[in-house]
Amino acid sequence: MAKILLTGGAGYIGSHTYLALIDAGFEVVIFDNFSNAKPDVPARLQDIAGDRVHVVEGDVLNRTDLDAAFAAHQIDGVVHFAAKKAVGESVEKPLDYMHTNVGGLLNVLAAMEAGGCRRIVFSSSATVYGDTDVQPIPEDHPRTYTSPYAFTKIAGEQILEQLTDDWAVGILRYFNPVGAHRSAMIGEDPEDIPNNLVPYIAKVATGDLAKLSVFGDDYDTPDGTGVRDYIHVEDLANGHVLSLKRLIDTGESHTVNLGTGEGSSVLDVVRAYGAACGDDIAYAIAPRRDGDVAVLTARPDKAKAELGFEATRTLADMCRSSWAWVSGQRRNDK
Ligand code: UDP
Repeated sequence: MAKILLTGGAGYIGSHTYLALIDAGFEVVIFDNFSNAKPDVPARLQDIAGDRVHVVEGDVLNRTDLDAAFAAHQIDGVVHFAAKKAVGESVEKPLDYMHTNVGGLLNVLAAMEAGGCRRIVFSSSATVYGDTDVQPIPEDHPRTYTSPYAFTKIAGEQILEQLTDDWAVGILRYFNPVGAHRSAMIGEDPEDIPNNLVPYIAKVATGDLAKLSVFGDDYDTPDGTGVRDYIHVEDLANGHVLSLKRLIDTGESHTVNLGTGEGSSVLDVVRAYGAACGDDIAYAIAPRRDGDVAVLTARPDKAKAELGFEATRTLADMCRSSWAWVSGQRRNDK
């Protein structure tokens, strides 16, 4: 069976993808510097999956670390998650974002070439579409950046598009990944006050934060609040499995959206989370957040046609799995 290197494999999406790949019969090696992952993630993955978890502790900015991973393992494909992902922080530290996200990708590609591996799945984002009224968004919509973070994702895609024909590249544009693994043993675990909606609501549900600020209720949407395409992280993880299989089976590169195609408003999420945790989520309407768009939803048909990908989990599933994970962690902390 093919052996896959997951850079950033101990992170939120990486760890869920690890489990989906193991389920699909792949061998997997995690490469992570644990800058944004808890040190106990590999042990948790081992508890869930049963088999020994292979981890190379290393940094994508350190070529020697990458070469060591390729020397220790015969790698057939790479999923490159390791990157910085906070839009606001990228405005404060643009060079950091270029260095890690663009420089890191270049290092990974060079190490892959030296190691004789030319199959890569790249974590991209719906942010590459910028602010657009075209909804749901098809993949051939022009790319434009609204933050240094978005710039790094477009740059990453463009770098991959320049590679020679003997490379096979899967570019996956994530919409809004939320939720947690069905085991409730891994999930999203932000250290600070969360920027993203569902992690923030989760902290209101646990009582760690008093109430959610709903950023704007005067958008041109059914209830006035922002609409996004939330996708269960386990569905998203499966998208990576399908992308890798396509690269391995056909060698055909692809660029696809990973979303459900369905939009949910902030208040839809507030209600769904309230139903999942059995308590109302306190909120107050606040001003719009800079840089936010009214609606962002995926056209999901290309992923279905090219990968056979279809998200199956509902917003209720996303909220229930998030709550199972968050409330379980809280009991452990006590
Ligand atoms: N949002 C909100 N309050 C928060 C965080 C987010 O009202 O504390 C809204 C935000 O304006 C957007 C949606 O929730 O309409 C999703 O935001 P998130 O940051 O999770 O993802 P984004 O789509 O911005 O990447």
